[in-house]
Amino acid sequence: MSEPTPRRAKAPPPTGGWSVRVGSALGVPIRIHFTFVLLLLWFGAVSASQGEGFLGGVVFLLLLFGCVVLHELGHATMARAFDVETREIVLYPIGGVARLDRIPSGKAELLIALAGPAVNLVLAGALFLYLIFRQVRAPGSAEELFGGGAPVVWQLLMANLILAFFNLIPAFPMDGGRVLRATLSLFLGEDRATDIAATVGQGMAILFAVLALFPPPVKPVLLLIAIFVFLGAGQEAAFQRGRSAVRGLTAAAAMVTRFETLRPDDSLGRAAELLLSTHQHDFPVLDAWGRVAGLLHRSALLAGLAGEGRDHPVLELMDREPLAVAPGTSLEEVLRLLQARPLGPILVVDDGRLAGMITFENFGELIEVSRRLRQGNPAT
Ligand SMILES: [Zn+2]
Repeated sequence: MSEPTPRRAKAPPPTGGWSVRVGSALGVPIRIHFTFVLLLLWFGAVSASQGEGFLGGVVFLLLLFGCVVLHELGHATMARAFDVETREIVLYPIGGVARLDRIPSGKAELLIALAGPAVNLVLAGALFLYLIFRQVRAPGSAEELFGGGAPVVWQLLMANLILAFFNLIPAFPMDGGRVLRATLSLFLGEDRATDIAATVGQGMAILFAVLALFPPPVKPVLLLIAIFVFLGAGQEAAFQRGRSAVRGLTAAAAMVTRFETLRPDDSLGRAAELLLSTHQHDFPVLDAWGRVAGLLHRSALLAGLAGEGRDHPVLELMDREPLAVAPGTSLEEVLRLLQARPLGPILVVDDGRLAGMITFENFGELIEVSRRLRQGNPAT
């Protein structure tokens, strides 16, 4: 049996409405987060106040972000070599993010992570050659270089070196965190590698925070990076743990098989009774032949009770295209879908018939159970 692609999972919008598409490169859509536009205005204003003109600051920042896009395209190109598609590239004020369709492991993860910083090193090399051939004067001091007085090409060269080395800091969600995890996993296995990389990442975040606070004055940018890295390390570690715990398992292993269902002509009152008498939040709706007709979400039920009353039929408020997978779908894929749409449960449908459903909670239980089993029995 072939595995159908989930019906509504083609393009979940993880970035929400806060970013706009500005174009695409190598077939990958490029979006800009609205906070990036604020940064542009701020940078222009600072540049203008330093007597270098609003436009000069904005142009430099756009060139800089061009380098960031090339960095992300480096990831995307290497990912493609491993058959991993990139859904989109989003530019934030603190850098870019290439959203991969799935995160590969081992050697592929290592090479994809290295490809971004490698692009910046190549750019820096090219800019350096240009400076040599054109015999552009080197800046006299660090203040001149970083204070904005140096030629733009010099500033871009430095920016690319900083981008390369900053991203190689061994802390999730930086590329260096992935490099560390992928390298360790070649020797220690995925679980140990993830734990160590996450701990190193959070240690780095604490170090950044200390450096940002002492000596005073507080350095806000560094503090922001510290928070970003600390949260990212925790999130990434949780995701990776989940992923390694479920490797090799299918949707059938994680689904709940005992739950209540509704008929399309059941009343909202009936659904409300079930909501109160069970732990269930969402109810699959089955037609007279036992086929999946839809899914009644808790939020729709509550809104319906308030707006339409108890006697209104379930049919009109149910989600007619609930997210569904086949029992043989890998749990890695299910995890990805749950992360893209954490609210609704995922139905497990076998040949039109409901086999079970997977919620975020029981997925969490499965991850815990698998990890404990593995810890107790390291041979498996
Ligand atoms: Zn990167």
